[in-house]
Formats: sequence, C-alpha cells, structure tokens
Amino acid sequence: MSCRILIVGAGFAGAVHARVLAEAGYTVHVIDKRPHIAGNAYDHIDANGVRVHAYGPHLFHSKNPEVIAWVKKFGEFVPYVHKVRAQLPGGAHVPMPVNLDTVNAVFGTRFETGAEVRAHLAAIAEPIAAPANAAEYLLGNIGRQLTDLFFRPYTKKMWGFELEDMAVAVVRRIPLRFDRSDTYFSDDDIQIMPREGYTALFARILAHPGISVALNTAFEKSMLCRHDFCFNAMPIDEYFDFALGELPYRSLRFHHETVTGVPARDWSVTNFTDMGRFTRETSWHVLPHHLVRDTGRHTRTREEPCDYRDNNMERYYPVKTADDRYAALYGRYRALAAAAPNIRFIGRCGTYQYLDMDQVINQSLRSAQNFMKERLG
Ligand SMILES: Cc1cc2nc3c(=O)[nH]c(=O)nc-3n(C[C@H](O)[C@H](O)[C@H](O)COP(=O)(O)OP(=O)(O)OC[C@H]3O[C@@H](n4cnc5c(N)ncnc54)[C@H](O)[C@@H]3O)c2cc1C
Repeated sequence: MSCRILIVGAGFAGAVHARVLAEAGYTVHVIDKRPHIAGNAYDHIDANGVRVHAYGPHLFHSKNPEVIAWVKKFGEFVPYVHKVRAQLPGGAHVPMPVNLDTVNAVFGTRFETGAEVRAHLAAIAEPIAAPANAAEYLLGNIGRQLTDLFFRPYTKKMWGFELEDMAVAVVRRIPLRFDRSDTYFSDDDIQIMPREGYTALFARILAHPGISVALNTAFEKSMLCRHDFCFNAMPIDEYFDFALGELPYRSLRFHHETVTGVPARDWSVTNFTDMGRFTRETSWHVLPHHLVRDTGRHTRTREEPCDYRDNNMERYYPVKTADDRYAALYGRYRALAAAAPNIRFIGRCGTYQYLDMDQVINQSLRSAQNFMKERLG
C-alpha cells in the first residue's frame, strides 16, 4: 500500500495506531520528541534494581475484554490488585477509597455492616440535590469531615484550585465503599501489569517491518507534506501555535529516594492528607516484578504537583473546572482541527481529556479501524 502515515507520539495512542495500520499494510513513521518510546507509561530499572515508572505509577485496569486481548498479544501480564492508603495527620494509614474501616478510623465508630456506614454517611451528608461542583458532590455524599480530610487539601495541592472550582467528574472517579473491600479500582475491573514492564511491551508493539521510529524528533509542519495522513498526539493548542489561547495542564515533579531494606507491605501508593508539598508516594517494590535485582534497597517516589509551565512544559493532567471553560476552549481548537485536511488529533493531549490507558487503546483501535474503512469506502 503506498499510503504513508506519520504518527506523532510513541505513547499508547500513537503505538496502537501504528501497529493496527502497519498490520493492514500501511507504511508508518512514528516520531517522539522524547528520547524513549512508551510515552507517559515509560519505565526503566534504576540503580537500586527497582523498576520505576518515570511519569508516575501506571496501573493497568479495564472492563474491556477487547483491549485486554489486544495488549496481551504483545507480552505476558500478571495479576495485580492495586491498593492505596491515606496517611492521616497522626500517621495512621487507612484504606482509600473511603470504606467501612476508613469511616471507623476517622469517627471512632465500630460499624460492622454496610447498612450502618450508609446510615452514618446519610446522617452527616449535606442536603445537596444537584451538585454543581466537586465540593457539593462530596458534601452531599460523605459530609464535611471526610471531604475536608481526604479531598480538600489533596485537591488544592493537585489542581491548585479549591474543590468548589473543580468539576464533579474529577472526584466522581473515586468510588465510595460501604464494606471492607480495600482495592482501589472497581471490583469488576481486570487488573494486570506487564511482567517485563511497559517499555518492553511498547518495543514489541512497535516491532513491525511496516513501522519506523525516530526518537528525539519534534514535530514540524514541514513533515506533513512527506506523508499522506498524520495521527497526532501532540498538544492540540501547540499545533495551532496557541492561536486561541493556552490549554492548561497540571504537572508533577518526581522526588526519588533510596531506602535501605525492602519492607513487606501490601499497598504501593500512600496519599498524604496534609497541606505539605506532596500528594502521594509510591513504593515501587510492591508492584509485581518491580524488584528486579535484590540490592537490599528500594526506591520510593513522592509527587509534587505544579503548573506544567513550572515543569519544563510536561503536560500530565488536563484541567477540568466546574465552569468547563477549558473544555469550551478545546472545543474551539477541535473546530479548527476539523477543517485541517489529512490530520487527526489523538490521545490525551490531542483531545485534551484525562484518559486511562485502556481508554486510549480502545479509542485508538477504533480510530485506526475507522480510518481504514473511510479509505476503502
Ligand atoms: C502521573 C500519571 C499517572 C497515570 N496513571 C495511570 C494509571 O494508573 N492507569 C492508567 O490506565 N492510566 C494512567 N495514566 C494515564 C496514561 O498515562 C495515559 O492514558 C496514556 O499515557 C495516554 O497515552 P497518549 O499516547 O495519549 O499520551 P502520552 O503517553 O503522553 O504520549 C504522547 C507522546 O507524544 C509525544 N509528543 C508530544 N508532543 C510532541 C511533539 N511536538 N513532537 C513529537 N512528539 C511529541 C510525547 O513526548 C509523548 O511521548 C496516568 C497519567 C499520568 C500523567
């Protein structure tokens, strides 16, 4: 097939498009401005023999069997049930999302059943029928004390905004449990991790004779004329030279620390409830096959949120405010993109959405298949 495809970004969006199109006979050239493949899922083994995810912990979970079947073609996956604990001001660790044990620890109660927890939360929740923002949603479901302990400082640190400024969707992602279940993701999600890490998985996705990859290569508009079509995962506002204004992102600075000894514990991520610099800490050795070499040490990483302009323009989380002002700005960029021939914006920064990996894979499988159908039709 003579059609030459340019793909900007070697993260999940770009790599899935590349593989599907190459398998169908297209010639695909993938570029990434970073020195590595795998986008934000990139991982590597550090001097402590520990596999570290360079852009924060990436836990693979999905309800979508098609996505699971697709990724499993490129590597072995092992089961991993993710657990998070919140560190209370006194230093105790309690399950997060809030469950029966969290409620007992915070209120000093001795509830044994979900019905008791539901009744307690119903009694302390504030009467808010139609929440207009994240604060109202939480106050209407779990009341002020839990909201102010687990969500208010975290949100302020994470987003630089008050809960009142944030969209309901930002906190609705986090479930509320009435039993002792202490897993982070929904119980019906399939939770797995690539046995040899994400970078090895991406190397196999991109290993196809129809795919070439150029790293340390930033997109330039002059590249378009050498290709028939471009799937582009770069920030959509940057592509249009910020003509309509900037789409903001939150970013994270990662603080890695070497710790002597390898303690046994069953949760990998600790959320901090205080107003310090950090939101959470990851102990990588708890993740399966992440203690790759025994050095008698382990690595933990704290995350310090900041504006992306204060972190080398590293864009991690699109900002979703209650008034949807950035969604509206993105809509105007999307209209510009619709009029641009032979280019489609993909992935997290191309579509200005927070997407989990399985969602990006699902969207990318569909996008590549639709592209081929449109070409044939
Ligand atoms: C801190 C953090 C934790 C996360 N944890 C999870 C999790 O636990 N589970 C989960 O499912 N998802 C998680 N995610 C989401 C996950 O990272 C995304 O779903 C996924 O990375 C999106 O893939 P992408 O290809 O759209 O973007 P990316 O992975 O960001 O890839 C885009 C690539 O495009 C490149 N690029 C950008 N601009 C240019 C340019 N001008 N020229 C050339 N290349 C360019 C970038 O360098 C990048 O490599 C997390 C995200 C973050 C930020």
